[in-house]
Amino acid sequence: MKNITVLGSTGSIGVSALDVIDKNPGRFRVVALAAGKNIQLLQKQIEKFRPQIVAVNDVQCASKLRNKIPVKIKTRIVSHEEGLKEVSAFAGADIVLSAISGAAGLIPTLAAIDAGKDIALANKETMVMAGDIVTKKAREKGVQIIPVDSEHSAIFQCLQGQKRENVKKIILTASGGPFLNYKIRELKKVTLRQALKHPRWKMGRKITVDSASLMNKGLEVIEAKWLFNLEMKKIDVLIHPQSIVHSMVEFIDGSLLAQMGIPDMRTPIAYALTYPERININLPILDLVKTRNLEFYKPDTRKFPCLRLAYEAGVCGGTMPAVLNAANEIAVEAFLKEIINFVDFPGIIDKVLSRHNSIKDPSLEDILKADEWARARTKEMIERIAS
Ligand code: NDP
Repeated sequence: MKNITVLGSTGSIGVSALDVIDKNPGRFRVVALAAGKNIQLLQKQIEKFRPQIVAVNDVQCASKLRNKIPVKIKTRIVSHEEGLKEVSAFAGADIVLSAISGAAGLIPTLAAIDAGKDIALANKETMVMAGDIVTKKAREKGVQIIPVDSEHSAIFQCLQGQKRENVKKIILTASGGPFLNYKIRELKKVTLRQALKHPRWKMGRKITVDSASLMNKGLEVIEAKWLFNLEMKKIDVLIHPQSIVHSMVEFIDGSLLAQMGIPDMRTPIAYALTYPERININLPILDLVKTRNLEFYKPDTRKFPCLRLAYEAGVCGGTMPAVLNAANEIAVEAFLKEIINFVDFPGIIDKVLSRHNSIKDPSLEDILKADEWARARTKEMIERIAS
């Protein structure tokens, strides 16, 4: 029996994880949950899984939640960053699924590592912002970080039993998002609704927009750099619209190992929770005869400059990736509120990056300061565009 904490339980990954857990009652037990503001769903999750402790964003959410759950359920409700850290470090857990969206996932993930908990990592922003600090701390605490992102899970699986010196490079695949076949001039007119319609994956709003701009792939390249200890030049991206090959490793003898499967996040989530075991989670099997064609293309960074910006920030290192991430989060937020257009992202992010003096080997404090600085600069820029 594995005791599990789910951070971001009301989100797309959180809900998929709880589905995997629910279908395997003899194998997993939920001991702690954390979410933001979705009290209604959290109430249902508490009634079903009876966790010992739950964190929400603020006192109002906490008191609303307390009033909703039956008194016989003794779940402790905590709030704010302190509460979130307490849940992340909860002693009863064997593994913590880190699936809060955005930069908000960093501090709780670090708290879980500090407490010696293995991490099933969905929150890529943790690695983008502070990959060096996170991986060093995980080594120091003897903690395993098992990727949940489907591409990184694929690489992780392909690397099992392989000698690292035999790896030539890794290839992350990308569906290309809803605008793959749009012309550059057509991108000027795309709407929020179109951007939120991902052709393959059903995900939270922020990552769906990131997938449309290819920033998601850029963030994943930086995540891969830290997870697999690779130079940026050894990480390639290929567009693969079918999303069947989840990623590949190329070895020095020319062999390519790929991991394939239907696009369903429950597969990499289950693998991260059971690693090195595998379990049957009763999903449809990939039918290669029906799939027929598997296509691969080079990404067009003229059409999707966010991917190029992420590569540049990753190569620069230091606090630059945190700035990239923060500027992107604010820009996506503004796009979700329909304040800016889809094509505004690269220009805004590029300007913020070019104004930042990256700090080498940053401390956590340096990273959080850079994040705050970038958010403020991006907001100013967006206000100017909007006015
Ligand atoms: P969602 O937007 O669907 O869910 C986000 C979750 O985080 C919700 O539970 C939300 O709570 C919670 N949350 C947000 N802010 C806070 C906060 N400040 N404090 C506490 N909880 C908070 O996101 P996804 O599930 O799509 O993505 C989660 C992470 O996983 C992201 O980093 C994403 O990049 C990564 N990922 C997602 C994939 C997917 O298929 N969805 C695939 C690979 C990686 P509430 O809603 O209650 O406010």
